[in-house]
Amino acid sequence: MIPVTKPFLPKAEDFKRYVDTIWERQWLTNNGPLLNELELKLQEYLGIKHLLYVSNGTIAIQLAIKALGIQGEVITTPFSYVATTSSIVWEGCTPVYVDIDPETFNIDPAKIEAAITPETTAILATHVYGNPCDIDAIQAIADKHQLKVIYDAAHCFGTTYKNKSVFAYGDISTASFHATKLFHTIEGGAVFTKSPKLLKIMAGMRNFGHNGPESFSGPGINAKNCEFRAAMGLCNLKHIEEILETRRKLSYHYFKRLKNIKGKFPKLNADMDYNFAYFPVLFDSEVLMQQCMKKLEGAKIYCRRYFYPSLSSLHYVNQTAMPICDDVVKRILCLPLYHTLTTADLDLICRLIMRVQNYQEPVLLKRKEIKTNPADNNLQRINGHTF
Ligand SMILES: *Cc1c(COP(=O)(O)O)cnc(C)c1O
Repeated sequence: MIPVTKPFLPKAEDFKRYVDTIWERQWLTNNGPLLNELELKLQEYLGIKHLLYVSNGTIAIQLAIKALGIQGEVITTPFSYVATTSSIVWEGCTPVYVDIDPETFNIDPAKIEAAITPETTAILATHVYGNPCDIDAIQAIADKHQLKVIYDAAHCFGTTYKNKSVFAYGDISTASFHATKLFHTIEGGAVFTKSPKLLKIMAGMRNFGHNGPESFSGPGINAKNCEFRAAMGLCNLKHIEEILETRRKLSYHYFKRLKNIKGKFPKLNADMDYNFAYFPVLFDSEVLMQQCMKKLEGAKIYCRRYFYPSLSSLHYVNQTAMPICDDVVKRILCLPLYHTLTTADLDLICRLIMRVQNYQEPVLLKRKEIKTNPADNNLQRINGHTF
């Protein structure tokens, strides 16, 4: 069986060494030493000073919205994981959708200004598949209209934009370290900001609003993470270069094998170093995508429709037609990509896809064209062949 992704797992002995230290200290959660060590190592690796490790990537988005005091309308993308929209709604704000760019599948900055109203307070955009949005254009619009910018950078671990981690952009960027992401801590996430003040606000919110054992800066939530997951993060971080390199190699192998595909790949931002978080293919037609998915499933190879459906079609939002996104979601499929996938697996996947797309529908002859021979009355004749 080949799933769309498999979590990276470090050597069990490495994880156990950390677990032994947890047993010695008997300190399981609440800002423990392993959590602090992970935060420091992440700061070092990413080159970002202000970050917080939190319990998941969804609460990271919610903390960002809360900490920035965002209310009213939030301009967002219809093409992302549901958490991008549900977090906006959960925080009592209204998502307002702006269609995506047909080449990158990220929110199209050229369409943002038309969606701004007096109620608009922020832009929440996703760097889809780890491929950065047009960050400069989005920031220029935000500055002009005094809007806050949050990036859902759940897919972006290891992506750099203009030689900096892409997490460094926006008022706040958020990450997910869920097991399906290329760097993971089983469950987990992070918030990143340039502002020490915002960091302090979010640090309080992460821990019920405590700013002392018996005092509170305001309402908070439990967004803390624990020592065991921090240990997984510390183990996995040691392998990050090897994880990124394997994904890069596998992705290039895919590109080579699929160069004649009836479909295309996202256009990658020219100013970045990519992490190859996913391997999406936009097929030329929905039928072809469905046929390929079925063919692969027949061989126990499971792809995922990241992302389907369009978030602008969810029943709990103001449903809006998004012509480009509505079309893309029908035709896009993410192929398997993970650390232990072999090039032989990948060759098989590509062979099956190419076989489906090169298959010609047999043309059924019209009934009257069939020269009826009483002997083959019950036989069907297709393209001159009798079956
Ligand atoms: C995975 C993901 C999230 C949610 O992260 P969790 O850690 O699972 O809560 C949010 N946004 C996007 C785009 C994601 O892919």
